Amino acid sequence: MKKHIALVPGDGIGPDIVNEAVKVLEVVGKKFGHEFTTTSYLAGGAALDALGIPLPEDTLEGCKKSDSVLLGAVGGPKWDTLASNLRPEKALLGLRSGMGLFCNLRPAILYKQLSDACPLKDEIIGDGLDIMVVRELTGGIYFGERGREGDRAYDTMAYSIPEVERIVRKGFEIAQKRSKRLCSIDKANILNSSQLWREVVEKMKGEYPDVKVSHMYVDNAAMQLVRNPRQFDVIVTSNMFGDILSDEASQITGSIGMLPSASLAADGFGMYEPIHGSAPDIAGQNIANPIATVLSVAMMLRYSFSMAKEADAIEEAVSKVLDGGYRTADIYTDGMKKVGTSEMGTLIAQAL
Ligand code: NAD
Repeated sequence: MKKHIALVPGDGIGPDIVNEAVKVLEVVGKKFGHEFTTTSYLAGGAALDALGIPLPEDTLEGCKKSDSVLLGAVGGPKWDTLASNLRPEKALLGLRSGMGLFCNLRPAILYKQLSDACPLKDEIIGDGLDIMVVRELTGGIYFGERGREGDRAYDTMAYSIPEVERIVRKGFEIAQKRSKRLCSIDKANILNSSQLWREVVEKMKGEYPDVKVSHMYVDNAAMQLVRNPRQFDVIVTSNMFGDILSDEASQITGSIGMLPSASLAADGFGMYEPIHGSAPDIAGQNIANPIATVLSVAMMLRYSFSMAKEADAIEEAVSKVLDGGYRTADIYTDGMKKVGTSEMGTLIAQAL
């Protein structure tokens, strides 16, 4: 298969980790007989420095024309004082809305080799965690009517049936490919938009008789994630609840440098990126962990290119390198072998 990938390295550690992910992608291409080509585009602070805007037209157009997008991270203290319409983060929102990326997938996986990093007790995590949070990304309270009138301010959470249907459908499809359990999270005891959400899930479950559906209120879900996270497999939820719960789920795995994410459009087109930011404190020092970005490539192969065995091969290679005791500084513990960003990328490529 031939695929063209738009690379948006961004700022801080972005260029370094994207480099390592491309190293791994090239090996996958050779091993499985695919031709992956890439073009790099500017976004975030890098685009502000070069062109004075966070998301150049050329970047959005190039990404739209590609088969998939791999993003590093954007932002940093250098651009923190700019007006909000010029902030590097504007590039992310522009890419998401410009490409119709309404579905955010955030896996929270605790590798057994890194279980020491998990803040929960051993009896709670058992032999590991593997939760997939499916978050609605372009609707709800972050995009509803908002305003400020004197000493009063408001934000509105609104969802339409089609908006709920398309994200819930993704939830069902992903649950079908995993353990066939889907937990829909809402606040239907209070919010109208949540009552509509729950009705849609109930109506759609007949189309997926093989998937076992449950509902949970968001406050209980926040508690259950630390009390008994192994009860969850696939979670589907709205924009704000997903934002909060996916961060909580990622933190219980203990390592921000390990977790990938995907933002998908209806046709399977997607943008893939690590969940962490540009880590300006460690930029340019060859110490950042590239694994989240390498695993983002695995997600790209799985979800946008339907290359399941290639994705499995990357995930197995990462596991093998961890088995070998190799660790970047953020996941290093006594007795392990400390390696830098580029060495970690090379080790994963070699394991492939
Ligand atoms: P961050 O995720 O960049 O860093 C938080 C901490 O985690 C830092 O100590 C950092 O060194 C460490 N860290 C992050 N990724 C790591 C990796 N791969 N390997 C090793 N250590 C890693 O979050 P922050 O400090 O709050 O934000 C820094 C900048 O990134 C800000 O400008 C913020 O707006 C931006 N940001 C961008 C995105 C994105 O592009 N999607 C997401 C979050 C934050």
